[in-house]
Amino acid sequence: MSSPPDGPYTLVEPRIAPVPLVLDSPHSGSWIPADLPLAVSEWDLREPEDSFVDALWADAPAHGAALLAASFSRAYVDPNRHAGDMDLELLDGPWSRPLVPSGKARIGKAVVWRTLEDGRVIHTRRLAAAELEARIDGCLLPYQRALAERIDAVHARHGVCFHLNCHSMRAVAGPMGEGGAGTARADVVLGDRDGTTCSAAFTALVRDAMAGFGYDVRINDPYKGVELVRVSGDPARGRHSLQVELNKRLYMDEATRQRTAGFDALRRDLGRLLAVLADHARNASR
Ligand SMILES: [Zn+2]
Repeated sequence: MSSPPDGPYTLVEPRIAPVPLVLDSPHSGSWIPADLPLAVSEWDLREPEDSFVDALWADAPAHGAALLAASFSRAYVDPNRHAGDMDLELLDGPWSRPLVPSGKARIGKAVVWRTLEDGRVIHTRRLAAAELEARIDGCLLPYQRALAERIDAVHARHGVCFHLNCHSMRAVAGPMGEGGAGTARADVVLGDRDGTTCSAAFTALVRDAMAGFGYDVRINDPYKGVELVRVSGDPARGRHSLQVELNKRLYMDEATRQRTAGFDALRRDLGRLLAVLADHARNASR
């Protein structure tokens, strides 16, 4: 089986009159098939997941926004990569599909990861092209299509679309982390790929709201945004995509992967942010 039994994603529709606001959580899923040739424990494999991010943003539909979330684990296939960003060292033979390298294969983090954050190799053997294609076709492409179709539909209806690409990050960078091992992260990192995926005003709106709630916010430092904001954002055409990284220390214990008391406070503040963004989107809608 190369796709979760209930489908590769969930899409929660707005519960009130829709506003042109779409959220997606590509890394909060946890499904992996039972028969992967794993050299590491499933617990270790799942460490890079953005645990509970979909739950943190669960109030989005109550503010008129759609909320898309992947059901499969990022450790199975990463939907925040181009489908052609294949790490050829994973393969036991040739790769016949188009190759679109991002450079992430160098650190083992292409569309299917080769190594964990600590450098351990994930699989016990090289994989057949068909195994990797099944992950892409069963999970990655349906997720990316669902996001693109929703953004297109919202944009067609409202003449504008605001998109939050929702993630979380380790409190402190790991050995392969952006910015170097041991670097402590801010509370919130917003990524607009150096001002190319949304208007400066939209980034500032989110920054100012979160800073006003007391959070330490940085922009494009160290996370600038990856594939999903790159393909979704086109600010000149009214498509604004912003990556939002939340520090895991705000809401979970990274060692036990349990929610902490901070979860409810963060969810409440994200609800306040959503109210601000929904107003902004409603006013911008035609
Ligand atoms: Zn993520």
